[in-house]
Amino acid sequence: MQTKILEIDESALKLSKQIILSGGAVAFPTETVYGLGANAFDTSAVENIFKIKGRPNDNPLIVHVHKDYDISTLVSDIPEYAKKLASSYLPGPLTMVYKSRGAVSSAVSCGLDTLAIRIPAHEGAQKFLKYLNLPIAAPSANVSKHVSPTQAEHVFNDLNGRIEVVLQGGRCNGGIESTVLDCTGEFPVILRSGLVTREMIEKVAGKCGEYVYKEGVAARSPGMKYKHYSPNCKTALFNFDEFEQALEEYKKQTEKGIAVCILCDNGTAERIVGAEILNLGKTEAEIAANLYSKLREGEQVADFIIAIAPEKQDGAMAGVMNRLKKACGSK
Ligand code: AMP
Ligand code: MG
Repeated sequence: MQTKILEIDESALKLSKQIILSGGAVAFPTETVYGLGANAFDTSAVENIFKIKGRPNDNPLIVHVHKDYDISTLVSDIPEYAKKLASSYLPGPLTMVYKSRGAVSSAVSCGLDTLAIRIPAHEGAQKFLKYLNLPIAAPSANVSKHVSPTQAEHVFNDLNGRIEVVLQGGRCNGGIESTVLDCTGEFPVILRSGLVTREMIEKVAGKCGEYVYKEGVAARSPGMKYKHYSPNCKTALFNFDEFEQALEEYKKQTEKGIAVCILCDNGTAERIVGAEILNLGKTEAEIAANLYSKLREGEQVADFIIAIAPEKQDGAMAGVMNRLKKACGSK
């Protein structure tokens, strides 16, 4: 089977619906990354997603719904602060975890009694979800642990032959996965940082916690314990103030005949002369939007990516740093 990339029109939506209703999976764009969606009511369709990606079977999926979908049929105990957050930031790159009503297949949450819900803002995602009028369980549409896809072509490169259709939605303008927010407690707790930042959540909800995963302890968000987002080449991550060491490493590797690229923001790039650069751009929004496509570009041209962290690491950059650390590890 050759995977087709289709513009989102009536015939592509009709075909997508046929695939989903017969238990298959369709890749679709969102404002964060491309998702690989299946009918959340259909256990074998959901299990199939784990197989297609090679995803560990204890890493739960997010359910995506259209903005007018009545989520109270899927989850209960929605607190006041969550209603306020939803009216401020949804549709958008914010996933909210609630107590599940058990309406969708238990394979979605891997047996947890909670369910993560997301209402994406991307116009193509909204069209797809409206046309289906179903809750769609969807992880990112990449091979598990590889860099997440922010273009239809990235999905094709990872999953060609494994799925029938990728809906074409252009470049994802957010670029990193949604913020995952636990809304089952007295106040919200960030399980995964993203473009809806802690500061934005605090502004609306008053208080916001942040969950830090510790190895050896059961994870509140199982995805946290896995290596993620990694390019298929060697990597190293240097802090912003380790600029000189990063350049030394570049020199050392290059002298060994290894093809090396430096991944950094525009400010850092301007300080470097005569090295191969993967420039993430100037603004925070550009840096987030370009991160995954530059990592994918890097693995095509280099055997070794040396990443240099941005100077600012709070707000939206907290999400970028979280992905950079997982993608490029520590040296
Ligand atoms: P991905 O689809 O690859 O972006 O990963 C989804 C993320 O959402 C993972 O980090 C999961 O651990 C997290 N997640 C999904 N469902 C739940 C849930 N019910 N409770 C906590 N975290 C969840
Ligand atoms: Mg993923």
